[in-house]
Amino acid sequence: MVAFELTLSLVCALLWPALAVIVLQERSRQLKDQRQWEERVRSGIEFTRMGGAGSIHCRDCSYEQEIVSFTHGYSDTGPTSETGVQCLKCGKLTTLSEGHGTDDDTEAPCDCGGALSRDHVLFCPRCRSKNLVYEMRYIT
Ligand SMILES: [Zn+2]
Ligand SMILES: [Zn+2]
Repeated sequence: MVAFELTLSLVCALLWPALAVIVLQERSRQLKDQRQWEERVRSGIEFTRMGGAGSIHCRDCSYEQEIVSFTHGYSDTGPTSETGVQCLKCGKLTTLSEGHGTDDDTEAPCDCGGALSRDHVLFCPRCRSKNLVYEMRYIT
């Protein structure tokens, strides 16, 4: 009986460090994931990760603008959708409408000739800072 208890405590003593290592590894992995997530959030906001409509606010120059990331609805002429885009050259934020009875879904460039994109980290149209916050108002 004593031998059994000895074996048991020996096994525990041997297993515990191994278990502790696993727990510590798991913990550090979680911390790493969290850091990566915070890193991504800090790196800026993107249309593709935003929903609905709301407003952006620049933390650097306090610029504010109402924007649409993506909304959809239905009109007399059929389904409609509105997609937010930003000009990569001048930073202007605009909304592209589809539907409304037009077949024209070619992406016209910005007035300044710059390309419109929704697949990039948004920057402030005024000071070009990426330190923006997005506040969602509604989603469709
Ligand atoms: Zn700004
Ligand atoms: Zn432009």
